[in-house]
Amino acid sequence: MCGIIGMFSNKNIAKDLYYGLYSIQHRGQESCGLAVADDNENKIKYIREMGLVGDVFKEKQIDYLNGSKGIGHVRYSTAGGSIIENCQPFVGTLRKRNLAVAHNGNLVNAQVLKDMLEEDGYMFQTNSDTEVILYILARYYKGDIVESLKLTMDYIKGAYALVILCDDALVAARDPHGFRPLIMGKRGDEYIFASENCAIDILGGEVIRDVEPGEIIVVKDGSVESFNYSQNYKPVKKSCIFEHVYFARNDATIDGVNAYDFRIRCGEKLAENDEVDIDLVVPVPDSGWPGALGYANAAGMRVSEALVKNRYVGRTFIKPTQEEREIGVKIKLNPLKRLIKDKSIVLVDDSIVRGTTSRQLVKSLREAGAREIHLRITSPPVAYSCFYGIDTPNRANLIASNHTVEEMRDYIGCDTLKFIDINDMLDVAGSHTNFCKACFDGDYAVKIHDIEG
Ligand code: SF4
Repeated sequence: MCGIIGMFSNKNIAKDLYYGLYSIQHRGQESCGLAVADDNENKIKYIREMGLVGDVFKEKQIDYLNGSKGIGHVRYSTAGGSIIENCQPFVGTLRKRNLAVAHNGNLVNAQVLKDMLEEDGYMFQTNSDTEVILYILARYYKGDIVESLKLTMDYIKGAYALVILCDDALVAARDPHGFRPLIMGKRGDEYIFASENCAIDILGGEVIRDVEPGEIIVVKDGSVESFNYSQNYKPVKKSCIFEHVYFARNDATIDGVNAYDFRIRCGEKLAENDEVDIDLVVPVPDSGWPGALGYANAAGMRVSEALVKNRYVGRTFIKPTQEEREIGVKIKLNPLKRLIKDKSIVLVDDSIVRGTTSRQLVKSLREAGAREIHLRITSPPVAYSCFYGIDTPNRANLIASNHTVEEMRDYIGCDTLKFIDINDMLDVAGSHTNFCKACFDGDYAVKIHDIEG
């Protein structure tokens, strides 16, 4: 999972890119990078490092990156390891033309394309699928970025939202299914593209619209043009519903759906006809909060912050061993015993992936004296892996892939367990768009070429 940003202006935008990238930090914390086209030197300058935006970029780096158009990336690895070589944007020069690419998503045929390019003599420096995109783009780029990108999109399959920088233009594109989000905004006569609207909001811009599936938008001096990837291909939208379940920030509106409203309404749906006798509604912070608010609203109760979150557990937290897992969860979330003792609680979370965290949480709530624990999940069971850019484990490690709900309840140790029904979740999302929901129902819109399911 990653976040991308691109900006076209007539003044130096390095600082704006930095602020924008900062605002989408939640989409990736492993590494970050910025690339800007230097207006005077006919080259693309870039800085990419492991670490958080605030740690990597200081005044000195921002001063170096002077230029009026640029792109940025925050990374959470799905394809390719978490190493400096795989940091983005990827930058290259071919036939005296400069290109930089930042990509959010996951190609499902990267290995096939890599093999093909290696046959042609390309030597890959990384194991990232974004390098594949850069090489194919560069291969066809002879001055017309739209034609070369259309040809590239004929090859690459899977999920991709792209921002591309070339010598005279900023380009934004979304794959023909629009799996990953990409929003277009404007500030005066400057253009901004970002994975989430918060980047546009904080820069004082105005959201114009989502980039459409299969759309290519090119911003050059004095012009903005939109192109269809292919006249022969009718894009079928498959916007990732998991963005709304978990990944996007609460303030995100993607393809007409606001993540916060969606989460609240999923909580409300869960409370409808739920007949458990409870004293407290408790969110698993932070992602369970809106769902718990919705549940509590519908149940006529208040939310109790009975799990206290340590906000300083981040990337550098040493991963606990299996034996230490309990302390790992407790360091992150500690129950407020005084509130919980002898109470019957509804615990609300956004999803269950492996089930291990839920199990530890239930155990620690029991130790804190909870009388009954009713776990409510604002998404359906995650029973299939994602191959389109969200980091889910192999299918065998997804608890819902090989357990019934009752078996999951038994493993987790709660008194009752309920998930929102997939049709209720789709009802909540409304008819603004078509969604990908393959991690819930296994209905993959793009065939998986070279990844084991
Ligand atoms: S499989 Fe799930 S997480 Fe992946 S794109 Fe589809 S809805 Fe999103």
